[in-house]
Amino acid sequence: MNSSGKLRIEIIAVGSELLTPYYQDTNSLYLTRRINELGMNISLKTIASDNLDDLIYCFKQAQQRSDLILTIGGLGPTLDDKTNEAVSASLNRKLIFKKEILHQIKNLFRKRNISMPSVNKKQAYIIEGAEILNNKKGTAPGLWVEFDSKIFILLPGPPVELKTMFEDQVLPRLLNLRQGYQSRLVLKIVGLTESKTESLITDLYPEENGLEMTILAYPGQIEIHLTGFSISSLKKAENRTLKLSRLIRDRLKEHVFSASGEKLEEVLGKLLSRDHSTLATAESCTGGLLGHRITNVPGSSDYFLQGVQVYSNTAKIKLLGISEALVETHGAVSQEVAEKMAERIREKAQSSYGLAITGIAGPGGGTKEKPVGLVYTSLAWKNGVKTDKNLFSGNREIIKFRSSQKALDMLRRFLIKRD
Ligand code: AMP
Ligand code: MG
Repeated sequence: MNSSGKLRIEIIAVGSELLTPYYQDTNSLYLTRRINELGMNISLKTIASDNLDDLIYCFKQAQQRSDLILTIGGLGPTLDDKTNEAVSASLNRKLIFKKEILHQIKNLFRKRNISMPSVNKKQAYIIEGAEILNNKKGTAPGLWVEFDSKIFILLPGPPVELKTMFEDQVLPRLLNLRQGYQSRLVLKIVGLTESKTESLITDLYPEENGLEMTILAYPGQIEIHLTGFSISSLKKAENRTLKLSRLIRDRLKEHVFSASGEKLEEVLGKLLSRDHSTLATAESCTGGLLGHRITNVPGSSDYFLQGVQVYSNTAKIKLLGISEALVETHGAVSQEVAEKMAERIREKAQSSYGLAITGIAGPGGGTKEKPVGLVYTSLAWKNGVKTDKNLFSGNREIIKFRSSQKALDMLRRFLIKRD
């Protein structure tokens, strides 16, 4: 127990590959989310190598300090899979051969029409006194091992095996240890900086126990994460987050584009579908990113008609019929060209709306008058065209993302104004 009387819970991800720059421990993020939902926090996370000494050292410490220890990985049949062996050594318990498990593993191979490799026999050795957690998606059984009123939970590494086992067999047992209910709500915001967002809602930072607010900044997007907690019911936890989210939305108004996890392109897609409207795009510096994001949304064929990448001046002139003189006079990165790009693609596609982007993503190509990050975004509709001049910061990739975000948002704002 920790000093506030709560269970101390820790996760140990096992795998030498997770200690290289090439692989990430993602399983623990999933476990953390599910455990948080039971009103329980994770106190520590460790990544340990496959080395037996490292593992025993790590598990011995964990069994001293924590009440619930979840291990991930190292249950496979190969020589580098040593979690079982290390837990048995650190608890000083024997590994016992279980015939029925060997049988199950053999059956699994038989179903796949291959005979069981002899290395898999190792997976039938189970820590004395442990309960077996069946693995529906693979060969390695998980284990639930109780000791000194504490628990080790050994889970396999492949994400699908871990998730299935956790949902089916671990979660129902953990419900007995539940310490409350947690609800989460994420408000997504576009068009405001982090400091502006904070200044508008600073007096709304919750003071009560059981409610937390965090502001997170991403390129082109701010998120406000609300976490509500209740000892007695999920409804109470949800009411806490909902009440606060209403207050925040009243302040931030149309800058909030989602309170249910949706991406900007999904929100825009719904608005276009609602209006039975269509869209076409013409992109220069974003190289198709805008069209890519729009078409990532299932069902986008209902409203997205076409997109062109007009990267060179010649393409802008030839594909969209923009006059050479206009490009020469104002330059490809200009309000005049952006406007024409939006208007022309709308005409060509015969769509309700045209969106266009032209700018300088860098790192080269900037001048004093037209620096890196200068991007024009244009929206054309039946009776007009509107262009924004933006100066985005960040590297090439970030400037491209911010540009696409801005274009999507221009149309979103236009559509909600007409509600
Ligand atoms: P193992 O059970 O340690 O042999 O792990 C089998 C596979 O599961 C590894 O090759 C990884 O692809 C994956 N894996 C193991 N641990 C993790 C983890 N913590 N997060 C995500 N994937 C993992
Ligand atoms: Mg491993």
